[in-house]
Amino acid sequence: MNYEKIIGQQHQFFNTNATRDISFRKKELKRLKSILQQNEALLYSSIYKDFKKSEFETYITELSIIYHEIDLALAKIKKWSGKKRASISLTNLPGKSYIIPEPYGTVLVIGAWNYPYQLSICPAIAAIAAGCTVILKPSEIPSHTSEIMAKLINENFDPGFFRVIEGGVKETTALLAVKFDKIFFTGSVPVGKIIYQAAAKHLTPVTLELGGKSPAIITKDVNINLTAKRLVWAKFLNAGQTCIAPDYVLVESSIKDQLLSSIKHHIDKADYAVENQNYPQIINEQNYDRLTNFIEADKVYLGGTGNKDERIIAPTVLKDIELSDKVMQDEIFGPILPVLSFETIEEAIEKVKTLSKPLSCYIFTRSKSLKNKMLKEISFGGGAVNDAVMHFTEQTLPFGGVGDSGIGNYHGKYGFETFSHYKSVLQKPFWIEPNLKYSPYSATKLKWLKRIIG
Ligand code: NAD
Repeated sequence: MNYEKIIGQQHQFFNTNATRDISFRKKELKRLKSILQQNEALLYSSIYKDFKKSEFETYITELSIIYHEIDLALAKIKKWSGKKRASISLTNLPGKSYIIPEPYGTVLVIGAWNYPYQLSICPAIAAIAAGCTVILKPSEIPSHTSEIMAKLINENFDPGFFRVIEGGVKETTALLAVKFDKIFFTGSVPVGKIIYQAAAKHLTPVTLELGGKSPAIITKDVNINLTAKRLVWAKFLNAGQTCIAPDYVLVESSIKDQLLSSIKHHIDKADYAVENQNYPQIINEQNYDRLTNFIEADKVYLGGTGNKDERIIAPTVLKDIELSDKVMQDEIFGPILPVLSFETIEEAIEKVKTLSKPLSCYIFTRSKSLKNKMLKEISFGGGAVNDAVMHFTEQTLPFGGVGDSGIGNYHGKYGFETFSHYKSVLQKPFWIEPNLKYSPYSATKLKWLKRIIG
């Protein structure tokens, strides 16, 4: 495929100024929603073929999020894209200042496999809302979802405006050789670094939505039953293949046993049986092997079993885990929950800080002072107090990482901003021009300038 030509076509389309028109953006977003709605059955069957993800989970974790993003953008594009007045200093009176959001241009969105629809389509929605043209490269690993997105989008949109290019490393590498106006990447830290380097060659701005080890810190005063219930749901959703899943638990040692037994109770109740189609498969054999390698028999509190043919790993809880254990050396990204304990909150914070800054952090406590201490001292992308994962659903919260877990953010208005340049303008009238800044300079002029500028 001639990527130079395809991207050139998109630059040309962008330069027609069609996407600057708000009604055009709205029309295309409505088209996208209606195509997805009309083809929901295909979207469900494709993702089921890839990793047996159920209709229920696909709707709540993929399609509903996409629809909400479109609806919000449709309601707010006009406001978000409007010119914003800024205050003006004495120096430039009687002028005025304002900021005009403008679309970056032609953007590349690279998706990850674990939520293949929303991680690809939500950034594209934000880019369209901002007035960009979009090349979308979904993850090749869930091949059926990649194929259906390519079919639905490429058959229904002008390729100069919105186009899906399927492929893996080879195709992405070739795409990255061409200059884009913005790159939005979701994926792993090592590949994030490759994307950043490729973008640097063209001075292309990037947003990197990466991963990491997100902790759940639990103090002894919590409602143990509800804490365990929320944790179990968040961890085993999508069989743990969620970038913001609680990667590990840090629990105050005096309630460790009670918490473990409550986690067991909720796992049993959720009925994540091997045959249960509501518990998705591990995406591929490579990940299955990577995950089972984390399970050390003497540390298994619950689960630890798997079925390689079906690519299912039973919800697994590991106890008495230390930072030096194998499972703590890398992001887990699967249905394995290591439990570590602590005596003091300082010790818990210290342990979290030993690792890279996480994408998410979950703080379970009734204590206001402990909550405030953790919120103040731990750096993380985003998170929740007394819950896990659900912050992702709040469109008013920017979603993204910090440090090794990412650069930039999106969702709602923040997605619009991610694909916009904020052009700042000072406007002056002709009817007056103070002479102070012009040469010949003099002591009197300087004296007055010091008074005005400060
Ligand atoms: P990945 O980095 O392997 O792949 C992501 C994308 O990059 C895919 O489209 C893939 O085709 C492409 N890619 C892979 N290798 C490449 C290379 N050498 N050069 C160019 N492109 C390449 O990640 P993944 O396995 O799809 O996803 C898992 C990771 O993504 C986890 O670390 C997870 O935490 C993270 N993640 C983050 C978020 C977030 O929103 N922050 C969401 C989901 C997943």
